[in-house]
Amino acid sequence: MIIQKELKTSQKEEIISITYLVEEGLKKANIKEGQVLIFIPHTTAAVIINEDADPDVRSDILKGLKYFKFESVPFDHNEGNSPAHLKAAIFGSSVQVIISGGKLFLGTWQGIYFCEFDGPRARKIIMRFS
Ligand code: ZN
Repeated sequence: MIIQKELKTSQKEEIISITYLVEEGLKKANIKEGQVLIFIPHTTAAVIINEDADPDVRSDILKGLKYFKFESVPFDHNEGNSPAHLKAAIFGSSVQVIISGGKLFLGTWQGIYFCEFDGPRARKIIMRFS
């Protein structure tokens, strides 16, 4: 079953927890054992699994990216958003999570995050439950 969700981002760059959206999708898909593929159909956004306990980790990921100084690279792409394309390429456009006992099988500290690198925009999140 494929479920699509919409997400409106509000910053140029932000990392947004979407674990609840995947849990909503799982409820609808009603799968007890299996997996979910979470896919982001965009070229300047990404999805990651990372720490869900301390929100500083999310801001630190964005802070750490600034040290690579991608914005100062003389890119050729005339849209001017090559740093966002590069970050999206590094982070990746999909993650997979095991479903066990009707729940997402995440580590104790893990959450699923949408990463915006060229916002604010209206974004889509595709989930395939199987
Ligand atoms: Zn572009």
